[in-house]
Amino acid sequence: MKYAIIIPDGCADEPIESLGGRTPLQAARKPNMDRIARDGTVGQSNNVPDSLTPASDVATLSLFGYDPLECYTGRAPLEAAAMGIELGPRDWAVRCNLVTVIDDVMVDFSGGHVSIPDGQVYMEVVREHLAGGPLEFHAGVSYRNLLVYRGSANDPAPFARSTSTQAPHDIPDKPIANFLPAGPGSDLFRDLMTQSRKFLASHPLNSHRQARGESAVTQIWLWGQGQSPRIETFERRFGKRGAIITAVDLLRGIGAYLGWSRINVPTATGYLDTDYAAKGRAGVAALRDFDLVCVHVEATDEASHEGKADEKVKALEEIDRHIVGPMLDAVQTFGDWHVLISPDHPTLVRERVHGRGFVPWALAGTGIAPSGKTYDEFAAATGAKRFERGHDLMQFFLVK
Ligand SMILES: [Zn+2]
Repeated sequence: MKYAIIIPDGCADEPIESLGGRTPLQAARKPNMDRIARDGTVGQSNNVPDSLTPASDVATLSLFGYDPLECYTGRAPLEAAAMGIELGPRDWAVRCNLVTVIDDVMVDFSGGHVSIPDGQVYMEVVREHLAGGPLEFHAGVSYRNLLVYRGSANDPAPFARSTSTQAPHDIPDKPIANFLPAGPGSDLFRDLMTQSRKFLASHPLNSHRQARGESAVTQIWLWGQGQSPRIETFERRFGKRGAIITAVDLLRGIGAYLGWSRINVPTATGYLDTDYAAKGRAGVAALRDFDLVCVHVEATDEASHEGKADEKVKALEEIDRHIVGPMLDAVQTFGDWHVLISPDHPTLVRERVHGRGFVPWALAGTGIAPSGKTYDEFAAATGAKRFERGHDLMQFFLVK
């Protein structure tokens, strides 16, 4: 039995005026996703418990069959795993975004999607000025970098579960004063962020970037802190050997905790310009070696954060053509098979932030009766199953 999962990150949405009152899923030409819905079954899942923030960390754990209320400790420790950074029992990992703040307003949570080489240059100065003692800074992909606090018995980290920080992608164009860290250890976070302004805002790379029409990186933004989570491997829990293809460290980190192989596609960018066809080819190839192969695409989420409905539709069409189609054809050549398509959480183009609530999924394969439906939010709401606890979907998907 072979299993394929395709995740168009944040693809669930609401009707949008510029799309003629349709959702991006309704507006997109996506014959393969619709084939899965028609020949299989559709339904809904809520991947984000009310007490947690809607984001890919929490929502993807649910989608992969894990209760985030039991195992989620924060985003940054998951990303640390992807970057090969080991966390001891007293260590904390913290997300360190490179952001653009102008007149104390969060203008861009990604520093204009700073390129990987530019990001490394900025992180090098961050390291020069702010690293030392228990503080380590690690450059990741683009704006997604990490701070690690190495705690010890004599010098424990000052943070606690009650330390609160703000995801910068959820406060576009808002004054940052209302969203600064609070609670235990927040003084340190605030101090590092303030200090970073002194050497980042005036960094010479900014004028080069601005001359090219790109955003300046003005400071770091610290959030997503947590300690190493305890997560049972997927093979132990579900008895399947898995692999994941993604350009995003967070997803790679979750894969690492699950014991999945992380298959690298060098031309995958985690953005709208990603190499869809290469990801599709890698997914098809991986089906030979693993029971379960997951391909995650970030582009749909990024288009939503940029408020671009047409780009979101285009990304869905690319995913359908270059990833869903080839995976759907390939998985059937191995005998019994199941395919699942589902986003992690909704991301609303209108508000440019993650939404709460149910996401639509479609799954097809051996033993599943055809529903005759399409794949979109409204068809899914009339579907056979509705999982209030999103992590219950995985068991349903894996049963033959
Ligand atoms: Zn997002």
